[in-house]
Amino acid sequence: MPEAGVAAKGLGRAVIFLGPPGAGKGTQARQIAESYGVPHLSTGDMFREHVSRGTPLGLRAKPIMERGELVPDDLVLSMVEDRISRPDCSDGFILDGFPRTLPQAEKLDEILRRRFQAEPLVVHFLVDQNQLMRRLTGRRTCTIGGEIYNIYDHRPKVPGRCDRDGGELVQRPDDREEVIAERLAAYERQTRPLVDYYRRRGMLKDVDGMAALGSVTKNVLEVLAQKK
Ligand code: AMP
Repeated sequence: MPEAGVAAKGLGRAVIFLGPPGAGKGTQARQIAESYGVPHLSTGDMFREHVSRGTPLGLRAKPIMERGELVPDDLVLSMVEDRISRPDCSDGFILDGFPRTLPQAEKLDEILRRRFQAEPLVVHFLVDQNQLMRRLTGRRTCTIGGEIYNIYDHRPKVPGRCDRDGGELVQRPDDREEVIAERLAAYERQTRPLVDYYRRRGMLKDVDGMAALGSVTKNVLEVLAQKK
């Protein structure tokens, strides 16, 4: 089982991090992808990048994201397909925030069947509603490297500055309370059914996302090691 900083060895499959906004998927995906030396593919980060570059896709996605709703499947799917066809994804990757709807999950199955022998593994993060609100309202992200902090439970050493690279820490525009409510509702409506979809097929492992950051990482690494 790799630890942070240990040589890369790949995953040989796609690993899907599933759970509501604020469950810790992004924080864990960054660390675990680094340990395994595989790409961390966050569709939210990809859209934010398009928005900040002002691309046509970014212009379409921006108002939808600001409302806390989901971007239409066809836009998400072509972006993801393009990304996972790149050579750095050949030994597996971690998907964070994708799939989020049943049609996305079905299309992903089709793509992955062509790509890997091993079935994808789904890690499902369990976190209660109060903790989600605390994580989302307290989240601050580094403008340089994307490192994630929380003003309540994972503070940087210098307030407002990233420990790694000194970058400014900012709040995501969709982490405001009124948008959070819509994002959580979108999760219940459109994404929660995927828990059953994957569980029925024996592909899903639950992980307690309420534990301390380091023990969640340890548990996820154990799940990945068992499934090798
Ligand atoms: P996230 O960073 O994963 O919370 O995503 C931020 C926003 O990007 C979401 O609220 C959606 O508007 C959009 N988004 C990210 N991933 C997807 C997806 N798989 N399907 C639809 N919309 C998405």
